[in-house]
Amino acid sequence: MPQTVVCKQCGHLLYKGVELKPPTEIIQRNGGVCPRCGRKLTFRIEDVEIIPIVEEAG
Ligand SMILES: [Zn+2]
Repeated sequence: MPQTVVCKQCGHLLYKGVELKPPTEIIQRNGGVCPRCGRKLTFRIEDVEIIPIVEEAG
């Protein structure tokens, strides 16, 4: 199932894809900070929000 991971502070999209990736990898890809608001991202799941994408048919 596709997923998105967004910054919990500003809602910036940090990751979108079909692979379920661990938050640590997504955070590391962004250099440990949100590229939009500059919030320091930690490895705590509370700092990001993982939202399953609902594909609407038709
Ligand atoms: Zn942010």
